[in-house]
Amino acid sequence: MSGSVHIHPSVDSGLKTASANFNGGTLVCKCAQDPVKIRIEGQIAFDHACGCTKCWKPAGSDFSVVAVVGRDKLHVTENENKLQVVDPSAAIQRHACKACGVHMYGRIENKNHPFYGFDFLHPELFQETGWAPPEFAAFVSSVIESGVNPNRMDGIRARLRELKLEPYDCLSPPLMDAIATHVAKASGKLAA
Ligand SMILES: [Zn+2]
Ligand SMILES: [Zn+2]
Repeated sequence: MSGSVHIHPSVDSGLKTASANFNGGTLVCKCAQDPVKIRIEGQIAFDHACGCTKCWKPAGSDFSVVAVVGRDKLHVTENENKLQVVDPSAAIQRHACKACGVHMYGRIENKNHPFYGFDFLHPELFQETGWAPPEFAAFVSSVIESGVNPNRMDGIRARLRELKLEPYDCLSPPLMDAIATHVAKASGKLAA
């Protein structure tokens, strides 16, 4: 039963474990020629499956897998001229390859945004293995907005739990708490 539910190619056969030796790597787009390459320093954080309609997903996948690194840990090293921002009005500026369509990284330019300083990336694009696997699933109900039949949701949530990816309809509690803390400090309800 659960075998018929596809979440994402990088988790469907079970989560891979992080390597203690993983010290970064190279993200590569899907272009056969002149791919965009991005160097990442160190391990990724807050890796998760995401059901929102904005994240890039591989063909046939209802979820993306997305993680963060500090923006100073991400460097475009090859073919940067192929990158283009998908939606300049979005809070997260998603830089996609114009040729293959893959989103290579997302960056927040608003210094007041709770997640300013983090860049978003899709770790399946690493040419190396050993990156930290997803820890939870975010914006699960939002897959319906992409056309998933609501009657599939019980099966999708059951499969996510089986994979130990606790399903949340927003972000995980620690990330929601981080956003609320940022807002409370900005408004003065909490000491900055
Ligand atoms: Zn490409
Ligand atoms: Zn998303």
